[in-house]
Amino acid sequence: MQMRIGGAEVSSADGQWIPVINPATGEVLDKVPQGTLYEVDEAVHAAENAFDAWAGRTVRDRGMVLFKTAEKVREKHKDLAVVLTAEQGKPIREAIDEVRGFANILEFYAGIAGALHGDYLGLGPAGDCLVKREPLGVCGAIIPWNMPVILMGWKIGPALLAGNTMVFKPASSAPLTNLAIASLAEQAGLPPGVLNTITGRGEVVGEGMVRHRGISKISFTGDLETGGRVRELAGSHLKEIHLELGSSDPMIVWKDADIGKAVDGAVRGRFYNAGQTCTAVKRLYLHEEIAQDFTSRLLHKVEALRVGNGSSDQVDMGPLAGKIQLERIAATVQNVIGRGRGTLLTGGTRLLGPGYENGFFYSPTLVTDPTPDCQLLHTEVFGPVLPIVQVPDLETAITMANSTRYGLGASVWTRDLSIVREVFSRVQAGIVWVNRHLTVLPEIPFGGVKESGLGRENGLQAWQSYTRTKSLFLTW
Ligand code: NAD
Repeated sequence: MQMRIGGAEVSSADGQWIPVINPATGEVLDKVPQGTLYEVDEAVHAAENAFDAWAGRTVRDRGMVLFKTAEKVREKHKDLAVVLTAEQGKPIREAIDEVRGFANILEFYAGIAGALHGDYLGLGPAGDCLVKREPLGVCGAIIPWNMPVILMGWKIGPALLAGNTMVFKPASSAPLTNLAIASLAEQAGLPPGVLNTITGRGEVVGEGMVRHRGISKISFTGDLETGGRVRELAGSHLKEIHLELGSSDPMIVWKDADIGKAVDGAVRGRFYNAGQTCTAVKRLYLHEEIAQDFTSRLLHKVEALRVGNGSSDQVDMGPLAGKIQLERIAATVQNVIGRGRGTLLTGGTRLLGPGYENGFFYSPTLVTDPTPDCQLLHTEVFGPVLPIVQVPDLETAITMANSTRYGLGASVWTRDLSIVREVFSRVQAGIVWVNRHLTVLPEIPFGGVKESGLGRENGLQAWQSYTRTKSLFLTW
C-alpha cells in the first residue's frame, strides 16, 4: 500500500519499503513505503496549500465531511476490521468495535459542529471584545500500533473540525487500516491535502515532522521515552505539543463489590487487545476479605480464555502485535518469577504448536504475591500479565495505586459512595471509573497526569486544543 500525500498515492523517494507482518502467522501481509524527509516536506507543503480553503469553510460544512467519512467507514467496517486484525492481531470482534468507535468519534465532532463558537466580553466603558477561535495551521499526529483506528479518530476528528490540515503518521507495523480510512475520507469529500498520511520509521518521519517548521502542533501518542524525545525536539522549535504516553492503571476491588461483575471487568480490562492498551488494568488491588474468592474466580475465567488467530470469531485473545512485544513480555515474566518477585498462578509461557504456527502468542498470565519491588507494580507492562495484590485497607490501596510515575486511568469497584469519593479525590489519574474500566467515549476528556502525558483528547477540550484565540477589542 502507498502513502497518501495531496490526495495521491506516493511511494518513498529512495524506493525503500517496510514489510507489514501478520502477528498471528509471522507472514508478510503487505508493505508500505519507508518515507524520507522528502515526503515529510511534500506532505507539509500539501497541507499548507490546502489550509486556506479548508479553514475558510464553515465549521458545519467541515462537520458534514467528517459525518460522510464516518458513513463510509461504517459501510466498510467489516473489510476494515479484517485488515486491522491481520496487521495488528486483535480478535475480529474487537477490530469491528474499534472501527465503529472511529465512526462514533467523527459523528460526535460532526454533531457538535453547529454549537461551536468563540466568545464575547462586555467591557463597559472600555468597549467590547470578540474572541475568535482560529485553527493552528498544519498539525502533525503520530500514533502507535495498539489502537491505530481509534487513535486516528481522536487526532483527526477535533483537528479537522477546527479547520486545521494535517500530516498523520501511523505506526510502521500497523499502517494499513489508517491508509484505507484516509482514502475513504477523500472519497467522502475531504479535499486533497487536508489529511496527508505518511509511513516510515519514527526516527526519520516522526522526528522529521517534529522538527519541521511548517507544523504548528504535534499530537503524539506512544511510549514515555519517545514522548520525552518528542517534547525535547518540539520545545526547541516552539511547537504546541500534546502527549499521550504510557500508564500502569490500578483497579481497586473493595470488599462490598459485585465480585462477578468485577472479575469480568478485570478479565476484559487486562486481556482485551492482548493487554496492549494504554488504559488496561495493569495492577489489581483486592481487599483481603474477598481476595481468595475473587482470585479463584478470576483464575477460572482466565484459564478459559481462547487464544488464537484473531480472524476467527471463536477467539478471545489474539497474539501480541510483534516479535519485540512478545520477547519483552516473556523476559519481564521470566525476570519476575526467576528472581522470586512473584508467584506464577497461571500462564507465563509462549504458545507454540498447532493453531499458533509462527505467531507471537503468549498465554494469559496471573502473578500473585508480587514483592514491593516487583517491576509489574512500577513499570508499564504492555501485554497479558496481571499482578494481584491483597490490601488490608483503603489507605494502602490508594498509596499503592499512586506508586508509579504514571496516572492515566484507575478504577474502583464498590457500592459504597464514601469509598468512591475517597478514590476519586486521591488517586492520581485523568479518569476514574466506578464499576467499570477501559471504556473511553468521545464526549469524555481523556488524558493523563504525571508522566502519562500532557493535554486531553476527546470532548470540547480536544477541539479547543486545536485552536488559538484571536481577540478583537472594539472601542466605541
Ligand atoms: P512508540 O513511542 O515506540 O511509537 C509511537 C509512534 O512514534 C510510532 O508511530 C513511531 O514510529 C513513532 N516514533 C518512534 N520514534 C520516534 C521519534 N524519535 N520521534 C517521533 N516519532 C517517533 O510507542 P509504541 O511502542 O508504538 O506504543 C506503545 C505505547 O503507547 C505504550 O506506552 C502505550 O501506553 C502508549 N499509548 C498511550 C495511549 C494514551 O492515550 N495515553 C494510547 C495508546 C498507546
